[in-house]
Amino acid sequence: MAWKTFPIKVVEIGMVTPSVLVLTFARADGERLEYAAGQFINIHFEHEGTPIHRSYSVANTPGSDSFQIAISPVEGGRATKLLFGLKIGDVIEGSGPYGRFVLRDDQPCRYIMAATGTGVTPYRAMLPLLEQRIEQGFKIDILLGVWRRDEALFADDFINFAAAHTDATFHACYSRELPDDAHPWEKSGYVQKQIATLNPNPATDIVYLCGNPGMIDDSVEMLRALDFPTKLLRREKYLPARV
Ligand SMILES: Cc1cc2nc3c(=O)[nH]c(=O)nc-3n(C[C@H](O)[C@H](O)[C@H](O)COP(=O)(O)OP(=O)(O)OC[C@H]3O[C@@H](n4cnc5c(N)ncnc54)[C@H](O)[C@@H]3O)c2cc1C
Repeated sequence: MAWKTFPIKVVEIGMVTPSVLVLTFARADGERLEYAAGQFINIHFEHEGTPIHRSYSVANTPGSDSFQIAISPVEGGRATKLLFGLKIGDVIEGSGPYGRFVLRDDQPCRYIMAATGTGVTPYRAMLPLLEQRIEQGFKIDILLGVWRRDEALFADDFINFAAAHTDATFHACYSRELPDDAHPWEKSGYVQKQIATLNPNPATDIVYLCGNPGMIDDSVEMLRALDFPTKLLRREKYLPARV
């Protein structure tokens, strides 16, 4: 496939948890990246003479001149090595946006939006749109699965969102350890266990699932057993690349 790539320049670098890197890019060709909240971009590079691309969800709301991605490190990972080694001003190749993991023209219902790790970034990009949906009568439950509290990336954005809207909730689910001083929104166990406690119902709910393929497969199996049809299950699997 011939990719239509463009140069993207690093304008900001930060760590959003002890392990997750956030890179802010701007297109270096004077254009602006136009995308819908929930879409992803590809980065392109060469590794030992082989062209490689990797996908990353855009983590910020559309409308600014720059865009962010959050990268969870993978041991021995080729894109991990490249991205964690970038400095401000460095230019790499990008393409996109891609993907259909976006909000659609739904009637008011409840959105159950579950993620593991960096899979929560599409929901962060969607927050202003979700606010509009709430005004239209939607309810929103956002669930984030991570190992432990300090890996709960962008949790403050979701805590503040839930605090500002009675029709929104946020649940941070910790698979390793629940702190002794856990807040009501902090839960022990896998995110799929927490989905089940929300009593999902295909008559009233649409489910978004993003991140770890195992979490998504488990959740889909559980939801199918509750008679959820495919059209009510929207998924973005962070599958490892083949090359
Ligand atoms: C649509 C889409 C969106 C994505 N969005 C994001 C995002 O927003 N943030 C993000 O951090 N990642 C995201 N990913 C994953 C990302 O594209 C890369 O796969 C990831 O960063 C690893 O790439 P790498 O080149 O560093 O590792 P590779 O060089 O591809 O892998 C090195 C080794 O680790 C294994 N491996 C790869 N991934 C994993 C893993 N997750 N767990 C265990 N072993 C693994 C590989 O099989 C290989 O043996 C997304 C993937 C898809 C398909």
